Formats: sequence, structure tokens, C-alpha cells
Amino acid sequence: RMSAPRLTRIAGALAEAAPVPDASLYEMARVGDQRLLGEVIRIRGDVATLQVYEETDGLATGAAVELTGAGLTVPLGPGLLGAILDGLGRPLETLARQGGDHIRPGVDAPTLDPARRWEFQAVLAAGGLITGGTVLGEVRERPGFTHRILVPPGVSGRLTELRSGAFTAHEPIGTTDTGQALSLAHSWPVRVPRPVAARAATSRPFITGQRVFDLLFPLAEGGVVALPGGFGTGKTVIEQSLAKHAEADVIVYIGCGERGNEMAELLDELPALVDPRTGRSIMDRTVMVVNTSNMPVAAREASVYVGVTIGEYFRDQGYRVAVLADSLSRWAEALREIGARLGEMPGEEGYPTYLGTRLAQFYERAGTVRCAGTPEREGALTMVTAISPPGGDLSEPVTQATLRVVGGLWALDAALAHQRQFPAVDWETSWSLYVDRVTPWFDQAVGGGWGVLRGAALALLQEGKDRQEIADLVGTDALQDEDRLVLHSARTLRELVLGQSAFDPNDWNSPVEKTWRLARAALALHRAALERLRAGIRLEELDLAGPARLLLAARNAPAADWPAHAATLERLTTGTAPVTV
Ligand code: ADP
Ligand code: MG
Repeated sequence: RMSAPRLTRIAGALAEAAPVPDASLYEMARVGDQRLLGEVIRIRGDVATLQVYEETDGLATGAAVELTGAGLTVPLGPGLLGAILDGLGRPLETLARQGGDHIRPGVDAPTLDPARRWEFQAVLAAGGLITGGTVLGEVRERPGFTHRILVPPGVSGRLTELRSGAFTAHEPIGTTDTGQALSLAHSWPVRVPRPVAARAATSRPFITGQRVFDLLFPLAEGGVVALPGGFGTGKTVIEQSLAKHAEADVIVYIGCGERGNEMAELLDELPALVDPRTGRSIMDRTVMVVNTSNMPVAAREASVYVGVTIGEYFRDQGYRVAVLADSLSRWAEALREIGARLGEMPGEEGYPTYLGTRLAQFYERAGTVRCAGTPEREGALTMVTAISPPGGDLSEPVTQATLRVVGGLWALDAALAHQRQFPAVDWETSWSLYVDRVTPWFDQAVGGGWGVLRGAALALLQEGKDRQEIADLVGTDALQDEDRLVLHSARTLRELVLGQSAFDPNDWNSPVEKTWRLARAALALHRAALERLRAGIRLEELDLAGPARLLLAARNAPAADWPAHAATLERLTTGTAPVTV
């Protein structure tokens, strides 16, 4: 570079540097004596506008700026599982150790521990042809978790050497005839989607363990669902429940702009929770990217890309990954703030006009794919993104732009949350485009009838709502027995079957079979009672409370007692209940 660039302007998180004759967009920069991290977000002539990711107090014009020649990248390799990273991919623990109470700006904290050695077992030998994504070998990153070491995307050639043994993340493990050194880890620019061989279609559901979603609004693996809701409607509780209980090989949890104490609680809980599929700590399958409301806003914009890039990396190994983000609204607000500072022409509600494009590009990184390279394998990246529409109003721009591209909507409702109906999912507003695709899988899992059950459940909810509207006009006492039964059965379905406490260890995760048996029993009880009424028996003569108590007991029973309760539910479904009193 000709003459060294210097700061010519500084305003909050934005700075201008000149001269920068060969800067490129999204190139990272180091700013000032503290070497604060920044990113080029606009270039005009030889002036670059930088977004500085850290507190800029004490920064003044004239300070030296160093362009790094590379975009924001994140190193990908063994050591990611269990990591707790900031929005730029730096381990929080290291940052805290170096900076005391406050993260010292400008610190360089490597994402992957540079000293840690991993036992690498090569699966390829010298002489073989490799391309980007090819599996070179394996590292047992955690007990039971095989981390597949990949050829970096874009690299290809013939292997001239590949060694098994103990290596650090960045030590050479082999070389190609094109002179490329290979190591356990490689870096990837977070704003660029990682390449895949092909997109694949899947019919596997993403099992959430939450009855209301799995039964009524199922998500497919590789799908995207939006989770909007006003303050206190349960977005964070749902995202955290998914992190704990959903079926996935790897979870990337992006805490974006929300309260720090919530993240701290999650970090307290995860290590103690056991993944029933592996028998080991949930933390062993989790990567956390944390940019809470008390951390610099600019890094918030980057954090979602860091998270999804890590997700793609595990997908490329052939795993089923879930990226959970709470909340994309905070990301959009960061985008809005940056746009405003840049003096861009604002679009709807002050958001930049490219909000929709950026959101779509982000969501497009989800999917089921045939991974690049050999051996042939499939991976999936599923996304659930919380959105915080002001006042819970879904017509706002972030929700609307999201709904144009996602495959499902889990809408949370403040009135339901107020009644403590949790998860507070508004079944009238919510939808899923994945229903037809995943129903055969559920049918297979439970032996048939899943789609019919789903239809019957939605129909009963709707009937219940219709009758409630009449009851609100004329009073419950003026209703016919059949209408009162519908009210009762719809409430049972809502409260006992779809209701699920995130804080009850016996019910915070509902296996598919439990979901199916509870819903099936509730609907069978309704049909049986309806038949009695039609046979001339009065509602007062039916024992509705007894079967409801059995449903409740089954729902709240510890897993060890489940077989007995499953048998009871089977009897309720096929048997004689509700009994006449
Ligand atoms: P949001 O993130 O939408 O602002 P939270 O997830 O923090 O809302 O939920 C607010 C409160 O609602 C929680 O602290 C909890 O008391 C209650 N809540 C939400 N979801 C559930 C649930 N599934 N089970 C039990 N309580 C819940
Ligand atoms: Mg929240």
C-alpha cells in the first residue's frame, strides 16, 4: 500500500479511513493503537467507511488503520463443540481472562485453542485426489462425536502426504501437489455460504420435542421456521427448549442482542443436562455465539453469520445441525443503526431497503444438502429464528420480510401467554409448509394416522373457538350439551395436550410416541363422549373429569412410568371411557 491509511473521521461505531486505494468491501481492519476490530462497509474513492466492532471511546482522527486483506473469517475445526464465542468468534472465557471485568477492546483471542492437540486418524492415503469438502480423516472431538476433517472448499489436487497423529488445529497434517498445506482447521469468510454438491430434498422432520410444533406445525430437517412474538410470549424459553431437547447432532445457539442473564442461565443449565441419544452432556453438541444487549451493537450484525457458518461447517461433515437465533430483530436493528449512520435512504420503518434481501440470503443458508467432496453424505441445517416485533404486531418489516421466505410460522400470542397457556402458540395464525412432506415419517414412527390426528386436532380447536364465540354471546348455560362438550374437549386438547411446561423435567421433552398417544386419547375421548350424547345420555351423566385426570397423570409422569401410562392411554383410546356416572 502507498501511504498508510489513517482515521479521518470517527462517529460512534463508524469511522472513515483514507487513503485506501485497494480496500475491498467487508475487508477487516485494525484501528488505532488498541487495534480495534473493524470491517469495511463502504468504499467511496479512496475513503473507506469502517464499522468498528468494539467500543470506540478514546479513538481519534489520525490514528493508524491497518487493512488485513481478508474478510471476517472464522476458523473451523476441532474444539468448536462446547465453545462459547462472542459475535466475532472469540471465546468469551479467553476474553474475560485477558480483560478482567470488561472485555479489553482489540484483543486477539483465537477461536480454537492453539495449544490443544487432537488425535487425528487419516482415512485417505498419499496419492489420492481430493477436492473441497473431501473427508481427510477423523478426530474424536468429544466422546461419541466424530469430527470429520475436511479439505477446505476451493482446494483440490493430489495428496502428496497425509499423516495420522496428534496435531494442533493449525499444524500441517499433509500437503497437496498444488503446494497447499492441510491442517485440522481451516478458515472461512462468514458472509459467504459454504459450497455444497447439491441441494437435496428431505422428508425427515426436525423433532422439536414440543407437542404443539411436532403435531400441528412440524418443521422439516433443513427447513426454516420463524418464531415471532411480543415481549414475554415465550420466544427465549422455546429456543432454549429446542437447544436442550430437539433432535439434532449439533446445535448452534446465537444469542443476538437479548438479555445477558438469560444466556448465563442457559450456560448454567446445559452442561448438567444429558442428551438421551448419547448419554452425555448437551453442551457436547452445542456451540454458543453470544452477543447480548450489553455487548457492542456492530458485532451483533456479524454474529448471525459467525453462527450460521459454524452450522454449515458441521452440516458439511454430514451432520444434522440446528441453528437457533434469538433474535433476528436485534440483528435487523443493528443493520438499521448502521444504515442510518451511513446516511442511507431508509426504507420501511427506518430499516435499510436491502433488509429483505439480507434476510433472505441468511435464511437461504438453511437446507438439506449433498455435501461437497467424498465420501457421499448428506447434511442438514435447520433454522428456528425468533423475531421480536414491537407490540407483537406481525405486520412489521422484519416479520414480513421473513415470512416471504421461510417454510413455517410459529406465532406466539400475548393473550395466551397471559393465560399461561405455554407454549403460547397461536394455532390460527401459525402454519407449516412441511406438513405433507414429513407426515409419512411420523406415520412410520407411530404406525399410521398422524395426518388424520393432526387434522382432527385442528378441527376440534376451531370448533372450540366457534362455540366459545357463541358462549360469549349467549352464556355457556344456554348452549346445547354437544356444544358444551366441544368447549370442554377443545380446552382439554389445548391445556393438557398442547400445553407443555418447559420447567417440568417429566414433560419438557415430548417424544413423538408420547405426543401421538396423548393427542389420540384426547380426541378419542371426545368422540366417545359425543356418541354417548347422541345416544341420548346427558352431559352431566358423563364422567369427563376422570379421563382428563388420567391424561394429566400420563403427561406429567416420569419417563420410567411411561409404559404403564401408555397402556392407560391405549385403554382410553380404544375402550369405554368416558364412563357414565
Ligand atoms: P420472550 O423471550 O418472548 O420475551 P420468554 O421466553 O422470556 O419470553 O418467556 C417469558 C416467561 O413466560 C418465562 O419466564 C416463563 O415464565 C413463561 N414461559 C414461556 N414459555 C414457557 C413454557 N413453555 N413453559 C412454562 N413457562 C413458559
Ligand atoms: Mg426473549
